[in-house]
Amino acid sequence: MSLNRNLQTIAAANGIGADANFGAVTPPLYLTTTFTFAGYEQARAYDYTRAGNPSRALLADTIAQLEGGAGATITASGMAAIDLVLGTLGSDDLIVAPHDCYGGTYRLIAARAAKGQFNVAFVDQSDEAALAAALRGRPALVLIETPSNPLMRVVDIHAVSTRAKAAGAKVAVDNTFLSPALQRPIALGADYVIHSTTKYLNGHSDVVGGAVVAADPDDAAQLAEWSNITGVTGAPFDAFLTLRGLRTLFPRIAQQQRTAGTIAAYLERHPRVAATHYPGLASHPGHAIAQAQQTGFGAMLSFELAGGADEVRRFVEAVEGFTLAESLGGVESLIAHPATMTHASMGAEARHAAGISDTLLRLSVGLEAEEDLVAGLERGFGALT
Ligand code: PLP
Repeated sequence: MSLNRNLQTIAAANGIGADANFGAVTPPLYLTTTFTFAGYEQARAYDYTRAGNPSRALLADTIAQLEGGAGATITASGMAAIDLVLGTLGSDDLIVAPHDCYGGTYRLIAARAAKGQFNVAFVDQSDEAALAAALRGRPALVLIETPSNPLMRVVDIHAVSTRAKAAGAKVAVDNTFLSPALQRPIALGADYVIHSTTKYLNGHSDVVGGAVVAADPDDAAQLAEWSNITGVTGAPFDAFLTLRGLRTLFPRIAQQQRTAGTIAAYLERHPRVAATHYPGLASHPGHAIAQAQQTGFGAMLSFELAGGADEVRRFVEAVEGFTLAESLGGVESLIAHPATMTHASMGAEARHAAGISDTLLRLSVGLEAEEDLVAGLERGFGALT
């Protein structure tokens, strides 16, 4: 694996022009469940698509190179990627997870812990004392999600990884919100990087998928083997589409984050906004860490609308340019109300403990013209007066 090629070039060109059969410029899609044996006891590189497939392998190799890992496993969803990493834990193991992570991650970890499959401590990882107390429990795994969904809290990956490793834990970072274009957790000390490729890596809101990158070759091999055993691997067609989307990751996210920066500044000044959460703002508590560990601030942000449930309803019904829908990272701008949508499954108590209020709105900023998006938000605020 060549590590010194420029990352944008890897995204745009890995595997291009490599087809030995016909010289296809775009890598072919291998829609086959099974592969011939060359002869008795002579398996080829691939024998069965659940275990391995060239289209999926090329996506895995590309993401592994972008993240600077030893290898990657492509899964059918981001949740399957998280579950694959959770599968490394035994019943006596402890996982330290963020108290304000994506609601589906919270639900999965809490449900498996309730079945006795491992123990969990959900902590505010920016709270020094809470983190130290959790690490005294000698966890096997520390899961970091930074910036967190939906509050955009920033965790110092290097600092937490160093402390987690000293406590004997492996570290997994969910890098979905930034992608390797803006943050590379393995270089900061992570053992695993998790992605919902559904978001920025594919970027077109038409494929659900996931990936786990491992820093260590043995861990990479173990995840690949386990993904075959449990059957969580992604479909080849999905891998083909995701790689097609990944080709434009860098220019997409560069423009999206420029617009997000403008929108964050606009929201921060707006009298109907009680708080704006965007790590690119100097007022954000994680701004300095984000500046140090990220190469950009990303295109996700959230804000607290001044008022209550009635204002939220009026705003989301009037806003233009942002479609009311879950998910993020696509070329189209979306607005979500975490309390009733993405984080509803957490339950009100866990949500309030995590600081996710009922007036919080989350924006995923797409590729539309900046002035149209600002004008669309203005329509939303106009409905409040
Ligand atoms: N991780 C984060 C940070 C997410 O936001 C999501 C989904 O929104 C997931 C994981 C789960 O990914 P998927 O929906 O592809 O299963």
